[in-house]
Amino acid sequence: MPEDFDRADCFTVEGKMALPYTYFAGKVGSRFITTLRDQKKILGVKCKTCNKVFVPPRQTCALCMEDVRENWVELKNEGEVTNYTVVRYDDRHLPRKAPFILAMVKLAGADTPMVHILEGIRPEKVKIGLKVKPVFAKEPTNTILDIDHFEPL
Ligand SMILES: [Zn+2]
Repeated sequence: MPEDFDRADCFTVEGKMALPYTYFAGKVGSRFITTLRDQKKILGVKCKTCNKVFVPPRQTCALCMEDVRENWVELKNEGEVTNYTVVRYDDRHLPRKAPFILAMVKLAGADTPMVHILEGIRPEKVKIGLKVKPVFAKEPTNTILDIDHFEPL
C-alpha cells in the first residue's frame, strides 16, 4: 500500500461470508481421526532418530524432518495438563459456551501436547500437571471432537 494512501478516502463495506467447503485431513490426519472415531484410540507417530512421539501425528519429524508417517504408536488414555486458558467469550465457532477451559494435554508416552477442552473441574482449580483422561464422544463427529473432552483422572 503506498505511503500517501488515505483509507478515509475509500468507501468500504465490512462483511462476513459463509462458504461451504471440504477439507481433506491428509493420510496421516485421516488415520488419526478414523482410529479415534472407530476404535477410541489416540495415535501418534514416533521419530526413530530423535526418539520423539508427536501427537497429533504429523508426516515429518519436527526436529530432523525425517518421514515418520508410518511409525504409528498408540498412546495411553491418560496425560497431564501442561498449560491452559479459560475462554471467556462466546462465538458460534467455539465448541462450548463460555466460560470453558482449553488445555494443552500431553498424553503419557507423547512428547508434544495437544489442545483440547477440559471439563469436570472449575477453572480456578486447574493446575499445571493435573492428571487427565479423554472422554470419547458417544456419537461420531469425524473431527478431533471424537474426543469430546478431557477430565481429571
Ligand atoms: Zn526426528
